[in-house]
Amino acid sequence: MISQSTVKLIQKNEIAENTFQFIITKPKDFSFNSGQFMFLDFANPVNTDDNPTFRAMSIAAAPHEENLMFIMRGSESAFKKNMMEMNDGDEMVIKGPMGHVTLPQNMNQPIALIVAGVGVTTARSIIKHEEHQKTNRQVTLLYANRTKKSIALHEELQNIELQNYKPVFTLTRETQEWDGETGRINEDMIRKYVDDIKNTMYYIVGTKAFIESMEEVLKNMDIIKENIQFDNFG
Ligand SMILES: Cc1cc2nc3c(=O)[nH]c(=O)nc-3n(C[C@H](O)[C@H](O)[C@H](O)COP(=O)(O)OP(=O)(O)OC[C@H]3O[C@@H](n4cnc5c(N)ncnc54)[C@H](O)[C@@H]3O)c2cc1C
Repeated sequence: MISQSTVKLIQKNEIAENTFQFIITKPKDFSFNSGQFMFLDFANPVNTDDNPTFRAMSIAAAPHEENLMFIMRGSESAFKKNMMEMNDGDEMVIKGPMGHVTLPQNMNQPIALIVAGVGVTTARSIIKHEEHQKTNRQVTLLYANRTKKSIALHEELQNIELQNYKPVFTLTRETQEWDGETGRINEDMIRKYVDDIKNTMYYIVGTKAFIESMEEVLKNMDIIKENIQFDNFG
């Protein structure tokens, strides 16, 4: 059921270049699934512009965690200004959860998260959930960023305690002092890290352009539609 609640900011952190994490209180008896999103809004927004006062944001927290978490890039929009000007204890309104990204019922089916930039939100929720469930299936994270400074949650995502977990970070605009992957996520990179190409469930998270290009890559690899899910940030 879609519900609306008033919640409070617990903490705001800059976790990568122009990328902010908001930890907020979780309403009592609120439940959601990894991969879902919410609408974030303000009862009395300080800044306004021609656009709506609310935005869709994926829940970066996992369902078992005590608080909710959202991660977003800064911008000049009135909504982002309202977010950035929040102080600890300030209130905001959340509506949801919504969205239909689902994890495979078959606990042996591997999953691969193909994400760019702030799309890491959905990936974090899913990976932390898998860690909490202590699953054994292969979980591969392919996470693209322009530069090292723009990687959000780098350390946390490297140190997940899952038996069969492969975190892969790739930079598309920087190669110096970096011993990880470079360049865009492509077929070769997917084949290098995903063991069971055909049976893996793929989650593509990011902008429309990123999703379209990754969908094309997976289509050329003959991955069936049923094994591809999207979280389109627009
Ligand atoms: C299901 C879902 C989940 C999402 N999850 C996240 C998330 O976890 N984190 C996250 O950061 N975002 C997420 N988004 C995207 C989010 O809702 C916002 O669209 C995004 O953060 C940009 O918001 P904004 O206020 O900065 O820009 P907006 O004001 O919404 O503008 C969006 C884009 O349009 C451009 N634009 C705006 N006005 C004009 C204009 N007049 N002329 C030309 N260009 C213009 C802006 O430069 C910007 O690039 C999600 C979206 C969806 C649908």
